[in-house]
Order: sequence, then structure tokens, then C-alpha cells
Amino acid sequence: MALPLETPPARVEENHPVYTFLLHVAVWMTWPLMALAVAFGAAGLSASGWLAMLPLLLLLGLLTSDFVSGLFHWFFDNYGSPQTPVFGPTIELFRVHHDLPEDICNSNLVFTVGHVCIWVVPLALLQMGLWYLLGRSFVVSALLIYAASASLFLVLTNLFHKWAHLPVKPGWITWLQTQRLILESAHHTVHHTPPYQSYYCITTGWLNPLLFRVGFFPALERLLARWGMDKAV
Ligand SMILES: [Zn+2]
Ligand SMILES: [Zn+2]
Repeated sequence: MALPLETPPARVEENHPVYTFLLHVAVWMTWPLMALAVAFGAAGLSASGWLAMLPLLLLLGLLTSDFVSGLFHWFFDNYGSPQTPVFGPTIELFRVHHDLPEDICNSNLVFTVGHVCIWVVPLALLQMGLWYLLGRSFVVSALLIYAASASLFLVLTNLFHKWAHLPVKPGWITWLQTQRLILESAHHTVHHTPPYQSYYCITTGWLNPLLFRVGFFPALERLLARWGMDKAV
């Protein structure tokens, strides 16, 4: 949905020094915490003789991130308004992104990933505490690794999305994109073609062709319409 804006909005909270400080703390805590969660989970898997499950759990986390990124993106693109309580500023950023797609390239690391890190850090601490208290069994360890992988890739999603819009980028990013290991620029262009109604997944974009073919998001929209939730126009 196009908005008559010339300049992108800043989130209100980005001007708040306490929130900005928490964003920085969350961003720098995220990487060691995710590494610790995977290491703890791997130790639990190893003790149960299931360490070989590790790559599969990491992959499942990546796929989950791609799906969840699409779900959030679809919802914020199509429902609510910039005046919606709590999520209004996020909704506005998503919609303005269609009008000013390259503006995302001006965000630094903290403002690119911090808004996700601030949720991921306390959740990861909670999950690691539960893993410790619940006996570090195979199931609990597998869940810890899966959740850590999904969380880490959700954090990285905003970075991958930003990289897909970079007009000039380092060779290693181009390589990751051409191998389709992360969101590729030409693939993401499909979403940026009006009316912006498909290819919402922005971690790797792997799920986009499948979700498009089965009509996943239009089906979800019909379901919500039946429950009285209409799309923003
Ligand atoms: Zn969009
Ligand atoms: Zn984009």
C-alpha cells in the first residue's frame, strides 16, 4: 500500500536513549547467547547419542525463520495501519519500504537487527534456564537448538533483507546470494513488484515459490475475511 511520504519515518522509540541503550546491549548479547544455546543443546544431544541431528535442527530453524518472516511481513503489509496501537510504527516502516526500498540500506547494524534482538535475548535466556532445569534430555536439547537457530536466522533476516537491496555489495555477499543461501536481490524484486502480494519470505526466500503455488497467503486472507478481518486498502 503506497503512503504519501517523502521521507521514511523513524520509530518513536529510536529517539529514546534508554531504548537505544537496550538495543545495543541486546545486539551484542545475541551472538554469544545463540552460540551458547547451540553448544548447550549439542552437549545434550551428544549425551543422548543424537549429535547427528544437529544439522537437521539448524536447517529446521532456518526454514522456520523464513516462514515466520513471511508471516509477519504479510501481516504488516496488509493489516492494520500506522495508527494501530503498539505495532503502528512497524506497520508504517513495512509499507514505506515499498515506496523507498533502498532506504533500508542506510540503517546501521544496531537499528537493522536490534528490534528483533531485544525479543530474542530474554527468550533465549528463558529457554536456556528451562533446558538446565528440565534435565537436558534429548527432547529439551533438540528444542533449544531449534529455537536458537530460528531466533538467530530471524535476527539475520533484516540483515539479509538489507543486503538484497544494496546497490553495491562485497563479493562474499553476492556469492551467498547467487548460491541462494540468503535472500537474493532478483528473487526479492518479485515482492517489490506492485501490488506487493507475493514472495513475503525474506530470510532465504526458499519457501516463496511453494507458498505462492499453493496460494497460502490468499487462503489466509480469505480465512481472516471470514472472521471479519479485512485487508487495509
Ligand atoms: Zn512488503
Ligand atoms: Zn525489500
